[in-house]
Amino acid sequence: MGILYNSTRGGEKGVTASQAILKGLADDGGLFMPDSFPTLDKTPEELSKMTYQETAYEVMKLFLTDFTEEELKHCINGAYDSKFDTEDIAKLTYLVDEAYYLELYHGKTIAFKDMALSILPYLMTTAAKKNHADKEIVILTATSGDTGKAAMAGFADVPGTRIIVFYPNGGVSRVQELQMLTQKGDNTAVVGIDGNFDDAQSGVKNIFNDRAFGEKLAAAGFQLSSANSINIGRLIPQVVYYVYAYAKMLADEGIKSGEKINICVPTGNFGNILAAYIAKQIGLPVGKLICASNDNKVLYDFFTTGTYDRNRDFILTSSPSMDILISSNLERLIYLSCDCDCAKTAELMKELSETGKYTVTDSMREKMSDFIGGYASQEENAAEIHRVAETGYVIDTHTGVASCVYQQYRKRTGDRTKTVIASTASPYKFARAVMCAILGDGEKDKDDFELIDDLHNFSKVEEPQAIAEIRNAEIRHNRKCTPQNMEETVAEILGM
Ligand SMILES: *Cc1c(COP(=O)(O)O)cnc(C)c1O
Repeated sequence: MGILYNSTRGGEKGVTASQAILKGLADDGGLFMPDSFPTLDKTPEELSKMTYQETAYEVMKLFLTDFTEEELKHCINGAYDSKFDTEDIAKLTYLVDEAYYLELYHGKTIAFKDMALSILPYLMTTAAKKNHADKEIVILTATSGDTGKAAMAGFADVPGTRIIVFYPNGGVSRVQELQMLTQKGDNTAVVGIDGNFDDAQSGVKNIFNDRAFGEKLAAAGFQLSSANSINIGRLIPQVVYYVYAYAKMLADEGIKSGEKINICVPTGNFGNILAAYIAKQIGLPVGKLICASNDNKVLYDFFTTGTYDRNRDFILTSSPSMDILISSNLERLIYLSCDCDCAKTAELMKELSETGKYTVTDSMREKMSDFIGGYASQEENAAEIHRVAETGYVIDTHTGVASCVYQQYRKRTGDRTKTVIASTASPYKFARAVMCAILGDGEKDKDDFELIDDLHNFSKVEEPQAIAEIRNAEIRHNRKCTPQNMEETVAEILGM
């Protein structure tokens, strides 16, 4: 028997991987989790000789057990090709202070979301075929800036799919916004909501949970799915690059076989770091998982006190893709830490939605002790970007948060374990904040594209294709809505 998937809240059980990918979210509002963790059946030495695509197959075949070898390889080879500007796909680079930056931004939209969203459309269309789905798939996505563009780039003009993206108006960088508003493809729609990311994400979840609306959609020939990291089709592909990074470190003799590494991840919705945790569950030698937050430090507070409390001001920061107070994927860790007790998980999630907070038990905290929380204020982040730039390497504002938290951890603990820092976006995507951090406030009054030129002159890193694409592209989307009328907006876009 292969791996089957259960809802974290107990309402749905024994779902195949392809069905879980098609649905995105379980019917009871919970998230799908595998019924057991498989283990890697290749040794680190074997993995160290593999390409990214081969590694992807070794990892994904363990979880997506109802996909045939041919289907999976078709998905992998279609996704990880020359869309990426490096053959490595994920590039392990720049060792300093025992840390490697793992550049996950070499895809089409220059953020790490491409790592999973370039394969999700393949997985989804394959899953639809396998399950004889007869409806058009409508991908509803809330974005804090990067998921939206990466998902549209993946799904644009894919037959049998439509994609609708909601982003917080005024809550994303100018480059992020332009990337979305200029998106081509007749099946794409972008909507700026008058609210923050949490409003967008809650709104999308409410639409998923509205049965009556679901029936109306079905009658009109549509079926909803999600491209957010609540979809296991996002999560599993993200496990791959941690395995790949470990194998690369081994190949480059940065570590010995079996040596443990730490992983530090700039975190928002808790998807990327959860993927690192899953990599550990399948046998990758990983020690600590350092969870780096910006000023919206709910996760730091959670890991230091055991109480998750979203009742606080939402702060717009220079790392907008991490401006999140409700980290959806934390539900999966909660579920694992109470030994897959779905009643307990459902109870805590109910508390979260009713009171905005919950507290986990001591034994649950004990089971989460691999995670170390940390955070960096905007000033600390800017100082870290500046410090690293002086060594000749430019990082973006999200990676800056992780880099800063890693340095704090290293000083505080004296831990000298080799560490992978997830570098989640190209600095070009956040040129304004990056150049202000490096050259000072004199940069402030410049136009976004002047700042991009400054970044090019300073870093000598070639301007990515994604930037060239938006310089003169036509604005194609201008829809706006409030968090209250997202459902009507979806209906309108679908012509219902
Ligand atoms: C989405 C995103 C993050 C946060 O990742 P999560 O999986 O939501 O924790 C960090 N950095 C960048 C650049 C992102 O786009």
